[in-house]
Amino acid sequence: MEKLTIDGVYAAAARLRDLLPPTPAWSYPVLDAAIGSHAIVKHENVQPTGAFKVRGGLNLLATLSPAERAAGLITVSTGNHAQSLAYAAARSGVAATIVMPRSTPAEKVDAVRAWGARAVLEGADMAQAADFAVGLAARDGLHFVNPGNTPAIVYGHGTVYLELLQAHPEIETLYVPVGSGSGLAGALLVRDAIAPHTRVVGVQAEGASAAYDSWRSGTVKTVEAHTFAAGLATGSGFELPQSIMRERLDDFLLVSDDDLRHAMSLMATAAHTLCEGAGAGGLAGALADASRPGVVGFACTGGNACASEMAGLGRVAVGV
Ligand SMILES: *Cc1c(COP(=O)(O)O)cnc(C)c1O
Repeated sequence: MEKLTIDGVYAAAARLRDLLPPTPAWSYPVLDAAIGSHAIVKHENVQPTGAFKVRGGLNLLATLSPAERAAGLITVSTGNHAQSLAYAAARSGVAATIVMPRSTPAEKVDAVRAWGARAVLEGADMAQAADFAVGLAARDGLHFVNPGNTPAIVYGHGTVYLELLQAHPEIETLYVPVGSGSGLAGALLVRDAIAPHTRVVGVQAEGASAAYDSWRSGTVKTVEAHTFAAGLATGSGFELPQSIMRERLDDFLLVSDDDLRHAMSLMATAAHTLCEGAGAGGLAGALADASRPGVVGFACTGGNACASEMAGLGRVAVGV
């Protein structure tokens, strides 16, 4: 397995400079009052696909060999990774096939097709869909992209936290929502390089704790995923990000679906921002953290809330 280094994040940042503007980071006094600390929120929900994963997709497409580009790529995802690769492939003139489990909501399938990718609905869950994608890749000679174990994706995702920690070195605790762990691994590379005194805390849903369990035990675990937050609902740990998390992660918190819903509502009312469940993970972690976090930073990693997630938003009275 390739050893990940900060140079990969710097190279990704140089490639993305011409492809995506930096995203804004703002603070909100009502949000600060709710957290009890000053918070800096980076808005990845304003990316063209509505989530930070577009960074990994664009970096990956920029690093494919001519043969891989000509072959076309295939991956498996229900959500933001799917849209990221569909978008990046279209922008690079590469054919993309996205295998999605049959239960994937129609709006997520539409989003992929609207970027011009081929969506194939196969399998009862992500594991079956992944098996199908690997088989189709072998049969048709497509380049299979593993969503969690691909260095170019980790490096692309790391640029979120490069931008954030370069602009805001005052951040003392950085909360990162975790599914596969690619965003968190990128954040840890950046922290070690430019902000060694910043604590980095992973946040996952308690009903889908594969990355957390993998980190705790030191071996990759497979656990059933039960959470409405699709971006966090990964059934297995991934070796590549775990290899970084194992030695470098400061802490890892689990939050409930109710915590995520509360954080979504707070982001909507106090930070004028629509988060999907996973996108509110950083805030949910900050609210759940019993330690003294100091100045807090997190990204709203995605805003692709489906209709039922939006319907679950409630009123939050902060009491400033
Ligand atoms: C994928 C995703 C995450 C988790 O990121 P990983 O790199 O898979 O750990 C968090 N938030 C959103 C919105 C996502 O789409």
